[in-house]
Amino acid sequence: MNRPDRDSDGGSVDNSIPRVTLVLFDIWDRDLERTLSDTLQQFFFSIGERIPSTPQVSVQNRPCPSINPFEENIGRFCKLLDDAPGNIRIGVIDVGLWTFSPPPRFIFGQGCRYGSAVLSTYRFRRETQSRKLLHLRLSREVIKILGLACNLDACEDPQCMLTYHRAVEDLDRNRYICRHCRDQFIASLGELFNNFQQR
Ligand SMILES: [Zn+2]
Repeated sequence: MNRPDRDSDGGSVDNSIPRVTLVLFDIWDRDLERTLSDTLQQFFFSIGERIPSTPQVSVQNRPCPSINPFEENIGRFCKLLDDAPGNIRIGVIDVGLWTFSPPPRFIFGQGCRYGSAVLSTYRFRRETQSRKLLHLRLSREVIKILGLACNLDACEDPQCMLTYHRAVEDLDRNRYICRHCRDQFIASLGELFNNFQQR
């Protein structure tokens, strides 16, 4: 069924296709935008026959709220994602994502409620020398963050992208999404694409 979409004007939107939205908060790096959205799209194509339908990955650009970087701001970004369209919403921020849970530190990302999670590029940008490596690491991290949005547990296989990463270099060991995590993804995406009301 085609009906007008609330965040666009012109033409029509097919609401029978699930949507995954990358919400970029003050991120104007178009190459990075393409890397993240292409990575997600390729992943969905790779499991195409095992999910109800291949989602459309779209990008929304938003201003980043001014925050105190040494406060826990995750709740604020999760709340902003609640307003974004899509069955799954991945927020991307350039500012640090601080946590007080010991040891206090900047983290790579965190899940919000089922279907939403936030990725922070902050440590990747500061701890990665080459741009090519930065894109490679973030293309793996966005899969991990998608896993957090899908409530996947951390994988024990260090070569799997769904493993827990302590340092940005840990991403360099990731080679694949293991069979167990792939199955978990498929179960979760089936729920998020089928049973959840399209927003
Ligand atoms: Zn795994």
